Amino acid sequence: FQRIVLAQRPRGEVLASNFRLETVEVPALADGQVLVRNHFLSLDPYMRGRMSDAKSYAAPQPLDETMIGGTVGQVVESKNPKFAVGEHVAGMFGWAEMGVSDGALLRKLDVSRIPLSAYLGPVGMTGMTAWYGLNQIMQPKAGETVAVSAASGAVGSVVGQLAKLRGCRVVGIAGGKEKCDYVVNELGFDACVDYKAGNLQADLAAAAPNGIDAIFENVGGEVFDAALARTNAFARVALCGMIAGYNGADVEIKNARVLLTNRLTLRGFIVTEHMEFWPQGLTELGMLVATGKLKYRETVAPDLAAAPEAFIGLLKGKNFGKQLVKLI
Ligand code: NDP
Repeated sequence: FQRIVLAQRPRGEVLASNFRLETVEVPALADGQVLVRNHFLSLDPYMRGRMSDAKSYAAPQPLDETMIGGTVGQVVESKNPKFAVGEHVAGMFGWAEMGVSDGALLRKLDVSRIPLSAYLGPVGMTGMTAWYGLNQIMQPKAGETVAVSAASGAVGSVVGQLAKLRGCRVVGIAGGKEKCDYVVNELGFDACVDYKAGNLQADLAAAAPNGIDAIFENVGGEVFDAALARTNAFARVALCGMIAGYNGADVEIKNARVLLTNRLTLRGFIVTEHMEFWPQGLTELGMLVATGKLKYRETVAPDLAAAPEAFIGLLKGKNFGKQLVKLI
């Protein structure tokens, strides 16, 4: 089967040459192991951090080993009594068509009401990220204004819809008219500001006439500064990501003064450090997806060989919704 390894650490922008596609043998199973055929691979911004050896919250991805990544697939061979051939599972098999596991970190999936790929999006890590930041940090009340950047993306789209369900006014920030139209017309946000249109401050002021009470920040840089400038006193900020800086650009908070003047509460978080919330959050998110109350969109690369370009595109905003790779 095929896999992609990290061949070289990027300097600045990620290049296709940082990756290498390899063919490897399917290993023989030991007792207690299962062999999984992956159907979808999730591509996520955090992978950019792992490709560097700079100090971070997680250890770097080792060179010449399979790129890290979340996957969903089906058990094709089992020497573990807890898993039967044909069962659907989520795992961390990385950028690979197959994987072997002892089952410890596999999650069984019910695909009767939720499509398999959704377990990598709204009913997976990205959905939980939205759920955690909103419910545990922002805690917005009905009638408050919530702002979310990268609003059409995997995380942002869920944040805004959950905030709408809580009765908030929701303002998205996204790149381009098409993404903004989707956020308002399909996802039901109250407004969406296209930060590429050139009037970010004025457009945000118009979209949030009563100011902003809670921010879910995914981008950093001028997008974040503009949202901070519109905050009301005692606003809460869930600092989830700063994707604008992942390839090395400056995302310093220039507007730090408002943290004081508006008495803001800002908390960064890493969703995988809060596993105790996952069962509750995933149950809620699963119900919302199964009943059609939580919408999502996917961009799907056709095969493993297409993963590097899709990942490079994700870091440039070329994806529209959750970026996946189809493996079967
Ligand atoms: P998305 O599906 O939102 O895709 C990334 C999007 O970021 C792009 O489509 C693009 O949308 C937007 N973006 C904005 N500015 C830039 C820029 N300068 N360069 C490139 N892209 C830009 O990804 P996810 O939903 O998976 O992730 C969203 C954020 O959440 C990321 O910052 C990620 O690191 C973070 N995250 C954090 C977690 C945590 O535990 N803290 C867990 C999971 C994700 P547009 O075209 O609208 O600009």
